[in-house]
Amino acid sequence: MNHFEYRDGRLFAEGVAVAEIAAAVGTPFYCYSAATLTRHYQVFAGALASLGALVCYAVKANSNIAVIRTLARLGAGADVVSEGELRRALAAGVPAEKIVFSGVGKTRPEMAFALEAGIGQFNVESAPELEALAEIAAGLGRTAPVALRVNPDVDANTHHKIATGRKEDKFGIDLALAPALYARAAALPSLKPVGIAVHIGSQLTTLDPFRAAFARVAALVRSLRAQGLTVERLDLGGGLGIVYEGESPPNPADYAAMVAETVGGLDVKLVFEPGRVLVGNAGILVTSVIFVKDTATKRFVIVDAAMNDLIRPALYDAKHNVVPAADRRNAARRAAEVVGPVCETGDVLARGAALPDDIAAGALLAIESAGAYGAAMASTYNTRLPVAEVMVNGDQFFVIRPRPDYEALISLDRLPTWLED
Ligand SMILES: *Cc1c(COP(=O)(O)O)cnc(C)c1O
Repeated sequence: MNHFEYRDGRLFAEGVAVAEIAAAVGTPFYCYSAATLTRHYQVFAGALASLGALVCYAVKANSNIAVIRTLARLGAGADVVSEGELRRALAAGVPAEKIVFSGVGKTRPEMAFALEAGIGQFNVESAPELEALAEIAAGLGRTAPVALRVNPDVDANTHHKIATGRKEDKFGIDLALAPALYARAAALPSLKPVGIAVHIGSQLTTLDPFRAAFARVAALVRSLRAQGLTVERLDLGGGLGIVYEGESPPNPADYAAMVAETVGGLDVKLVFEPGRVLVGNAGILVTSVIFVKDTATKRFVIVDAAMNDLIRPALYDAKHNVVPAADRRNAARRAAEVVGPVCETGDVLARGAALPDDIAAGALLAIESAGAYGAAMASTYNTRLPVAEVMVNGDQFFVIRPRPDYEALISLDRLPTWLED
């Protein structure tokens, strides 16, 4: 459920017409709905409330501090994968103790920064990372709370570029090696092993892979305890899928029931790291048609957003529904390739979109389900201006990331002395 809907044939984000924002801000821009973010958080956290879970929003899905703060005010913590994201979470007001630091390649300066900030959990993914963290923490006179992220060797049945829990993936520690490493962490005075973490991939549309992974993790917890080790927390990651085009992902209540079934009896504090399910359908990418180009075989609707603004279709063959901001329900439709101006054949935002037959230059389109891994993955390829971001709340909207100008973009480069005039 989201708050983007037509009123009298005009697309609204909550109480604001998308065309009104476009007139004020220019296109392309991302538009997020605060009410939708709130609803998604409440449905997800509510489903898990009886299990006493901490929901740490995976900042990489959408790292705008206005989005993070909207969720933090509702009680969310944050899952971060870099010092930059950690700084964003702190700037957004997430309490340090509710921050989890994930990722296979934390640098020593990043570890030191996170230790000084006093974050709640480091998810460690290898033996060398464990040793490095112990050394840095000892040097700072701190104790690092550590969860070991394990690799359960489960295929998430999602796009291969976003599956993270198979043996051949770079993520996590082999289940068989985890007990020795956990014992090692317990023996190091600057580390406090608090639990086990797992995250098997993104955009999962069935519960079975989760169930298989969580069952393996539960068995690991029991065997660690049998060894006399203390396990207080279980971090079950993110990954729950959303509807882009015709998928039927499990709802949060079914997900919660599966969690209760697999790990409910363990007497651990549960942590979750949802990203996409909170923000994906809370955002659209609004773009204007530049030209309509009919060729012998296809219609190309060329728009002012491109793969640099939304790379998911090019990177993951992702599908996004595209709708006109001015709905003409009875208009004849024709299949169109919605493409951007970037000089790459892969610069396609949607294939075979059913758009009004008489769609013309200047028309506004909304690319749906663009709130996750959209703006956060944007670049300036082709020296295109960074995409703007807007948040709507009821009948107000605010530009939460203005579009910089060309001067600001180009002046990031410097001419070396030998090329100066
Ligand atoms: C990406 C990621 C998430 C969030 O995944 P979603 O599919 O967006 O829920 C959570 N945890 C870790 C470690 C991640 O890398």
